[in-house]
Amino acid sequence: MSNSLLYSHLYEWYETNHRSLPWRETDDPYAIWLSEIILQQTRVLQGLEYWRRFMARWPNVESLAAADESEVLREWQGLGYYSRARNLHKAAIQIVESQKSKVERGEIATYHFPNTYEELRALPGVGEYTAGAIASFAYNLPYPAMDGNVYRVVARLRDIDEAFDTSAGKKLFHKQIESLLDCDHPRLFNSAIMEFGALYCTPSLGDNCAQCPLQMQCASYQHGTAEMLPVRKARPKIRDRWFTYHVYVSYQQSTVSDQPSDVFTLIRRRENPKDIWYHLYEFPCEETQSERLKVNGERIIDLTHVLSHQKIHARFIIHKEQQMPELPGTMVIRWDELNDYALSRLTLRALDTLRLTPRN
Ligand code: SF4
Repeated sequence: MSNSLLYSHLYEWYETNHRSLPWRETDDPYAIWLSEIILQQTRVLQGLEYWRRFMARWPNVESLAAADESEVLREWQGLGYYSRARNLHKAAIQIVESQKSKVERGEIATYHFPNTYEELRALPGVGEYTAGAIASFAYNLPYPAMDGNVYRVVARLRDIDEAFDTSAGKKLFHKQIESLLDCDHPRLFNSAIMEFGALYCTPSLGDNCAQCPLQMQCASYQHGTAEMLPVRKARPKIRDRWFTYHVYVSYQQSTVSDQPSDVFTLIRRRENPKDIWYHLYEFPCEETQSERLKVNGERIIDLTHVLSHQKIHARFIIHKEQQMPELPGTMVIRWDELNDYALSRLTLRALDTLRLTPRN
């Protein structure tokens, strides 16, 4: 079956309705890669702000490779899923290292971003979707870019009631998108179908189907099944965890009489690469099996923090001390230096709630 009618209706819709996003108006693969990594688990509006900040600070792959991992994590703070930031940095280093000798010998003028699907796929943090997105958006290569929005549109256009997040489902959807892909205009096709899923063929359809330009090409509309699609497998159970944080605070009088006293605290870096928040900083923490610790302190704040597969029941206890306790793996910093460290979203929430100032 020819897709030409589908393409013309889709492109016409896209022309009129697409959002103006800076990474869709460039073919710079570095800028596109950065946007794709940022947007993996992030809403466009929030992602846009981070993308601009990253582009201003590290405008190309060599500048990002030269940064410290801690600076990249600090800039990423608030976006969550920090493995994306670590992989971003690792990938930049990998690209630069692989071309360094050629640049130094003058064989190539500057570092270039990988330009084949296979090379893109070999970068840390780049899966099938991201490789397809960069290959098509930057180089106009005929690869599909299947994000969640595209899975939904394909499930509905082809009326597929198989779960898309199983290995059998992925294969089936991949075949379908290959048969839909416009190999003459892959950049336009991927941009248009992603945007159509994001803005029009959304999870809640409302009255959209009645006015839809793809109505005649949409099997689920013809069969009345659109609202039930796509199907996903049952979600894994959320794991509960109980963290008790000790916020040690020590005041030391300034040597200058009219100056406020300095406030110090203790932080540590999370060092388990298999656990959440690897290489982020936080207050010393005790994890318990079934409930938060009952410990006395000046103030106690309880927060619940939900991640994709974990629910953290956190307790923050303030201890005011004359002398900081000596705890292995921690370091003493001034309270106002907390801003210099990459902190988890939970720690930031606690800081917001604590509103700790030198006087309280
Ligand atoms: S008819 Fe409805 S389900 Fe089908 S593509 Fe259009 S909006 Fe999506």
